[in-house]
Amino acid sequence: MPRAFVTGITGQDGQHLAEFLHGRGYDVYGMVKGQNNPKATLLQEEMPFVELVPGDLADLPSLVAALQIAQPDEVYNLGAISFVALSFSQAELTANITGLGVLRMLEAIRMVGGSDNNPIRFYQASSSEMFGKVRETPQTERTPFHPRSPYGCAKVFGHDIVVNYRESYGLHASSGILFNHEGPRRGMEFVTRKVTNAAARIKLGLQHELVMGNLDSKRDWGYAGDYVKAMWMMLQQDEPDDYVVATGKTHSIEDLVERAFAEVGIDNWQDYVRQDPKFYRPAEVDLLIGDPTKAKEKLGWEPEVEFPELVKMMVDHDLKREARRANIEL
Ligand code: NAP
Repeated sequence: MPRAFVTGITGQDGQHLAEFLHGRGYDVYGMVKGQNNPKATLLQEEMPFVELVPGDLADLPSLVAALQIAQPDEVYNLGAISFVALSFSQAELTANITGLGVLRMLEAIRMVGGSDNNPIRFYQASSSEMFGKVRETPQTERTPFHPRSPYGCAKVFGHDIVVNYRESYGLHASSGILFNHEGPRRGMEFVTRKVTNAAARIKLGLQHELVMGNLDSKRDWGYAGDYVKAMWMMLQQDEPDDYVVATGKTHSIEDLVERAFAEVGIDNWQDYVRQDPKFYRPAEVDLLIGDPTKAKEKLGWEPEVEFPELVKMMVDHDLKREARRANIEL
């Protein structure tokens, strides 16, 4: 059985990837941080097949020890401080985990290595936030980076160090430049989930207002379940490389709000939504739209879930969840 080691296993993508790899017959090892991580307990209940291994991206020896336990064929580095807003208030932490954490993981791989004829393959979770103040539209693998947040800057470092280790040491190390991808497992702090959950709660009478930042920003939103497949596909290639993973379509945050409220039967969404500059980013990323041609042509990857279906999936999930928690019959 092939063996995979996943950092960020308790996050949205980690859970989708664990399910995907398990379905393909992998032994899945997931790294968890902290001495009593509540998300690890939940994960173990939902996915008992995942073997949890302790470790932290801030701590190189723990990464080496984790790899020695897992003895993986493939490493997926999804762990990060991943919330852009938090990266502004905790920039040093973000640089350390999201940026330097990649370097530590690569060093750990060099130390543990895997066997000579079966070296460890590495996937890095790069991000469309590296494009930031976009230099061209749509963005491709060749578009210059101009990050607009400490998160974006840390991801650029992570991305560049992967290229450097690939070229310097011949590692089979690939990066997926993933555009926003969402789903019912998205953290509540992220704008899509904040909106779908609020629409559900307002429908159920549990909440009366949704306070938002900039409604004009545009994002290229796909479904996380589709995107983890692209990660795996990259590591099945003979040669490592970098790939943009995106839908190629863009929607504004206002579109998202309108559609989420429409899903619960509310047409006058403006009556419930208030904008507050407190939620504006200090530096905004205006128009992210990716060109996934290379992923389509070289990997044979295609996104399957379209934006309307994605919003519906999330709203339906949140309606059921909130109703269950409040003992409301739907
Ligand atoms: P997420 O839900 O925020 O998950 C982040 C994961 O990182 C969590 O499992 C978290 O563990 C872990 N983590 C945080 N600090 C750590 C540390 N010091 N050591 C080890 N692990 C640590 O993120 P996601 O949406 O699944 O995204 C996965 C990756 O893709 C991230 O690197 C993200 O930046 C990147 N990405 C995401 C998107 C997107 O739209 N989702 C787009 C482009 C790139 P705890 O739960 O224990 O805190």
